[in-house]
Amino acid sequence: MSAAIPPLASRHVAVIGAGAGGLVAARELRREGHRVVVYERGDQVGGTWVYSSKVESDPLGLDPNRAVVHSSLYQSLRTNLAREIMGFMDYPFVAKEGKGRDPRRFPRHREVLEYLQDFASAFEITELVRFETEVVFVKLAEDGKWKVRSKGRSGVGVDEIYDAVVVCNGHYTYPRIAHFPGINVWPGKQMHSHNYRTPEPFQDQIDLVSSLLFGQVVVLIGSSASAVDISVEIAGVAKEVHIAARSVEDDKLGKLPGNENIWLHSMIDHVYEDGRVVFLDGNAVCADFILHCTGYKYHFPFLDTNGEVTVDDNRVGPLYKHVFPPALTPWLSFVGLPWKVAPFILFELQSKWIAGTLSNRIALPSKEEMTEDIQDFYSSLETSGTPKRYTHNLGVTQVSFPITLSNPATSINVWDYDNWIAGQCGLPKIAEWRRKMYEANSKNRVVRPQTYRDEWDDDELILEAQEEFSGYTT
Ligand code: FAD
Repeated sequence: MSAAIPPLASRHVAVIGAGAGGLVAARELRREGHRVVVYERGDQVGGTWVYSSKVESDPLGLDPNRAVVHSSLYQSLRTNLAREIMGFMDYPFVAKEGKGRDPRRFPRHREVLEYLQDFASAFEITELVRFETEVVFVKLAEDGKWKVRSKGRSGVGVDEIYDAVVVCNGHYTYPRIAHFPGINVWPGKQMHSHNYRTPEPFQDQIDLVSSLLFGQVVVLIGSSASAVDISVEIAGVAKEVHIAARSVEDDKLGKLPGNENIWLHSMIDHVYEDGRVVFLDGNAVCADFILHCTGYKYHFPFLDTNGEVTVDDNRVGPLYKHVFPPALTPWLSFVGLPWKVAPFILFELQSKWIAGTLSNRIALPSKEEMTEDIQDFYSSLETSGTPKRYTHNLGVTQVSFPITLSNPATSINVWDYDNWIAGQCGLPKIAEWRRKMYEANSKNRVVRPQTYRDEWDDDELILEAQEEFSGYTT
């Protein structure tokens, strides 16, 4: 006798956050017939893409009492992904004409915000969002439902009960800082890229007594796409920029070709009271500033799961396929944890999967099977010597300027992951042009770190994309 198929169900679902992840989660949940409330502590949709010139009172983001600024965008930021692979699958991110619009393939950040605003209005999601309403507490209630406490402008906590909670609060807000010996006595200034907006603080300084100009020497730690942009931008106003990065190939160390005042070093070994920064390769500079482009922490200050989900060295777990904690499945889920991905597509697929499991249309494995799968995954990371903090890194190869790092972290890459979820949802595999374009984009970023946004070799893939998009845009 086959197992009885449960009837399709409509749930009452709380979505936390109205960034790209929360917006598409809300759309998919409602499409599936669920009743959705989206909580958003900001005053508009868009999350990360809502640029703010404000910075936090503590430039390193360590003071727990600081007022948190959500977005980490800098003023000049252009996307590091081509718009064809950035947008949602059935709502392409096509260039639009109009005042203030940026039709370039790698547009300025404002264009992404406008795209997300257009998406929210096209699918009437804005009406589901409670703006300026922060979720401060989420806990499993006694009857298996979830208690969600939120605070709006009045500051009074309001408790509501939901069948399920989908967490989409983003993970580019709470800085991770590099630590090295001597930092407590090192006399210079420090900042995390979360608080970088413009190169102004790094500009050469005038001594008010002597009227002499003093050039600033900046050490920048990191090698991500933003670290590249920021190092070049700062080099335009500062005396010297020294990039400290992990695993730099020996022949790449030294002055960066094509740049008069940027040097590449291995990681920092030690810093001293006299201002010196000594690198593992033995070189040393006397620096005025250390800028940490060292990534972010997953942070869920509102979430109480009785220890079922924890964050350990930036591993959020245990989670089945980065989405479902087995003990609380499917009633708690996370959208958007993986990185080194094409984010919007991944959010869209995860959201479809969550929506379908909540309605009983899609079946998940048993709790034991999910736990075993997670254990196998963690063991494979351990065997390959991958630190826990790379658990959600789906980039098989981390490619960044001017270093190419082979990353053994995952045997599954982002497209295999996306296709696996698509399969769970009964959807076809993702069009091959997307994978090819993503790869071309990543390679181009290495080959032309400073011009990849304006010069490329994948025009034939753009044509394929446009052909697919014409089905949605005409
Ligand atoms: P977010 O956009 O961060 O949204 C989370 C939302 O949750 C926010 O609106 C926040 O206010 C809200 N929130 C948080 N906590 C609460 C709470 N307790 N209660 C209520 N609301 C809450 N991606 C690309 O595809 N292309 C790029 O070129 C690109 N460049 C990037 C450059 C930088 C510098 C950064 C930081 C990221 C970049 N990304 C890029 C990644 C980008 O973050 C993702 O594309 C995506 O926008 C993340 O969406 P999200 O919904 O997961 O999170």
